Amino acid sequence: MDKIRNSLKEAEARSNTDALTGLANRRSLDEFLRSAQIAAMEKGRPLSVFLIDIDHFKKFNDTFGHQVGDQVLRLVAKVLQESVRNQDLAARYGGEELFAVLPGADLSACAEVAERIRLRIADARLTRRNTGQEISSVTVSIGVAQFRLAETAEALIERCDRALYQAKRSGRNRTITENGVDGEVLA
Ligand code: GH3
Ligand code: MG
Ligand code: MG
Repeated sequence: MDKIRNSLKEAEARSNTDALTGLANRRSLDEFLRSAQIAAMEKGRPLSVFLIDIDHFKKFNDTFGHQVGDQVLRLVAKVLQESVRNQDLAARYGGEELFAVLPGADLSACAEVAERIRLRIADARLTRRNTGQEISSVTVSIGVAQFRLAETAEALIERCDRALYQAKRSGRNRTITENGVDGEVLA
């Protein structure tokens, strides 16, 4: 019985996890965000989110190969996972885009966390496993948004996405909030 129970548990964990990064997958993110929205409304607590997109990711794949691209993605995922609290959720949103949900955090608190992650990634050094050759530095752009009462997850993510787009347009390797505030002034 224990064996069956354990293998069911493992199967459930697998179905919520992204295999490459070990982060929550999209499905599990959708579920988590929905309950976080409800909890935020019930408790009258803030809820904020951010979307990370790796800068010039295509370049890593094209220059060093897909495996190094995967290694870069895992590095960013690891920094993200290590930088959020237990109550938060770190997820793989899509290809090279990661997403975090921070219950209880307002926009500026969330932007501070995002900014710390951005700096940690920019400081990290990545070397090729086989050759020890250093891979050019990895940077990310981040968009941050705070949940507004009764809005849909789509509306929230849309604002986050627009902030991310601003971060890309203003030169990449930066955190921008939905109010257009640069994370650097907050951290
Ligand atoms: P930008 O700074 O504007 O974000 O440029 P970018 O090159 O990161 O953006 P673009 O969207 O053009 O490229 C994303 C690339 O990510 C293209 C796709 O092949 C790659 N990609 C998506 N998922 C994976 C993955 O799981 N592993 C690897 N190695 N590459 C992936
Ligand atoms: Mg992208
Ligand atoms: Mg990108």
